[in-house]
Amino acid sequence: MLFAHDTECALVAAAALVNTAGPGRDELSDVGALDDFVSVHGFSGRHEHTDVELRQVRALRPRLHRVWYADADEVVEIVNGLLRESHALPQLIRHDDEPYHLHAVPRDAPLATRMAVEAAMALADLIRMGELRRLRHCDHPDCANVLVDLSKNRSRRFCDAGCGNRAAVSAYRARRAASHS
Ligand SMILES: [Zn+2]
Ligand SMILES: [Zn+2]
Repeated sequence: MLFAHDTECALVAAAALVNTAGPGRDELSDVGALDDFVSVHGFSGRHEHTDVELRQVRALRPRLHRVWYADADEVVEIVNGLLRESHALPQLIRHDDEPYHLHAVPRDAPLATRMAVEAAMALADLIRMGELRRLRHCDHPDCANVLVDLSKNRSRRFCDAGCGNRAAVSAYRARRAASHS
């Protein structure tokens, strides 16, 4: 494990949130879609299933997306801004079956606030370890998704949306076409 478990989960969730929007698509268009997102990424605590909550989460998305393009100073500005606005106060807690981990806002804080703070705390870890380069873009030419490279040797190239398979299939077809010509 490169980073603490909660850091890795938060980074994966942040990338997944960013990837719910792309050119001509939005997978977070209603409250039901947010419910699915919350359960896939195991966000516990307050969850209201309201349009207001959905709007707040959607408003967080472009701010997190920016992190994948920003230099370290700008990431720091975004992270500090998110922590300040949320009145973050890190506390070690244990709940459900999880070991001690950090929460920096109460579990009854709004969902978007908890998402923002978890992402910000995880990004703070990346910055402190000089590992911001692990925030990358999918290598597939037709894909605009972001990814977090948590591999030991920084070898991850494709996002989770099947781009690795697609790239392998195109490479195979290209090789076959070349050998038949
Ligand atoms: Zn927790
Ligand atoms: Zn991709």
